Amino acid sequence: MSEPQLTSDVVIVGAGPTGLLLAGDLATAGLRVTVLEKRGTESNLTRAFAVHARTLEALDARGLADELIATGTRLSSLQIFGRLQVELGNLPTRFPFVLITPQSNTERLLQERALKAGATILRGAEVIGLRQDAEGVSVDVSEGGETHRARYVVGTDGVRSKVRELLGIPFPGESVISSVLLADVRLEREPAEVLTVGATEQGFAFLAPFGDGWYRVIAWDRARQLPDSAPVALSEVVDITRTVLGVDHGLHDPRWMSRFHSDERQAPDYRSGRVFLAGDAAHCHSPAGGQGMNTGLQDAANLSWKLAAVLRGWSPDALLDSYRTERHPVGRTVLRSSGALIRLALAHSAPARALRTAVTSAARHLPPMAERGARTVSGIGISYQAPKGAHHLVGHRVPDLRLASDGPGSPQRLHEALRAGKFVLVSPDELSVTQPWEDRLVTAAPADPHGKLRDTVLLVRPDGYAAWAAVDPSRGELREALAEWLGRP
Ligand SMILES: Cc1cc2nc3c(=O)[nH]c(=O)nc-3n(C[C@H](O)[C@H](O)[C@H](O)COP(=O)(O)OP(=O)(O)OC[C@H]3O[C@@H](n4cnc5c(N)ncnc54)[C@H](O)[C@@H]3O)c2cc1C
Repeated sequence: MSEPQLTSDVVIVGAGPTGLLLAGDLATAGLRVTVLEKRGTESNLTRAFAVHARTLEALDARGLADELIATGTRLSSLQIFGRLQVELGNLPTRFPFVLITPQSNTERLLQERALKAGATILRGAEVIGLRQDAEGVSVDVSEGGETHRARYVVGTDGVRSKVRELLGIPFPGESVISSVLLADVRLEREPAEVLTVGATEQGFAFLAPFGDGWYRVIAWDRARQLPDSAPVALSEVVDITRTVLGVDHGLHDPRWMSRFHSDERQAPDYRSGRVFLAGDAAHCHSPAGGQGMNTGLQDAANLSWKLAAVLRGWSPDALLDSYRTERHPVGRTVLRSSGALIRLALAHSAPARALRTAVTSAARHLPPMAERGARTVSGIGISYQAPKGAHHLVGHRVPDLRLASDGPGSPQRLHEALRAGKFVLVSPDELSVTQPWEDRLVTAAPADPHGKLRDTVLLVRPDGYAAWAAVDPSRGELREALAEWLGRP
């Protein structure tokens, strides 16, 4: 069968948060991007409410953080099932908090950005087949039997990923918690806190505001375990909420109710030839700690600049393998940490409860442990492995450095400089050697020439991690580093 002509550089399957961020990045890089989404209309089914610091930094590097923050409420600590508390107020970031805002707000901003940058989003387009060869990938869509063809495809089609199934990539794991109730309701009496969280031996209850008078309840009753298909009665939601919180806030008028189970699974491979998996399609875990959407967005931020560099011919295809090398261990850590959190929070047996008390007390009284917990949950602590002998900054997240002003409109901070979607070279000296790479590089000087970076030249990847750094490098060394990361000019 002859394949159709290439219609896009990248086809993205699934317009959830992961796919939308990726689409915006690739379109901003000037690539032809098509997003295929099976739903005919935009989703109003919010799941995530928590946007963590590292995600806000990534959104800041795309000029979206302030607008998103305006839609929600900041919390400087996160209660996990009312039993474990993670303090975020001391995180070394411009965003030392977790933002509570419905997932639909994040998706709306990402979609607007993707469309503005020129991405095509086709709704009512369910992917049912794909084939790849040496030149590209053909993707079959059910409605109208249309076939799209691109150089690369990314499956961001969620936990039941069709792309993953078509590639034959397994999704091993197990169920962590079942019969969790979700309900969108009105309340007669507003809770005192933004998030209301409680847990007892009988179960847990969680209330979060949509910001328009509606509230999301997530509740779980240990004694009432039913299959996902069993209909939800409002009385079930009211009963367990009252049992756990002592009050039910007069919850009424549900507009939507559902019962779900949460799995802990991870694909062993994130790539098969020209096709990649990202977000829930690659990993899923319990909602404890609010990590799923955040991890998916970071996957997309890691993959987008690599795809762009390879498609532009600036980097070899091998760069794309580093997506799995870097992101798979992060997914595994999130699975482990969110799994540990939910198991501790739901601990029932006497020894398990004793362990929970010990961990909670240690987290409260041992500052390094509390700090590590905050860095893990917020994503601020994530770093990637550096090659042997590399400068100690390589692989680490680069904080939002203050930059010396280069006239009106020039970036004042690293995250502003990253908005161009390019590498940023931070150097105290003017470096004429960078001139041949002008089209793929932003250069800036640190605002404080006597600060920590005074003799250091630092090359920051478009996703905000250090690619290369050296103290007082020679022109030859710098040229070599730029050629390695940005290609031969
Ligand atoms: C109750 C609950 C609370 C949560 N709370 C949080 C939280 O506070 N913070 C957090 O970070 N995460 C949270 N999560 C997880 C978060 O919602 C997910 O991790 C996130 O939505 C994953 O985004 P995604 O883009 O990878 O996939 P999805 O959002 O699932 O999007 C996948 C898209 O692909 C489309 N699609 C599927 N199949 C096809 C196909 N064959 N063809 C075309 N399109 C297709 C779907 O229609 C969908 O639009 C929560 C989850 C639950 C269940």
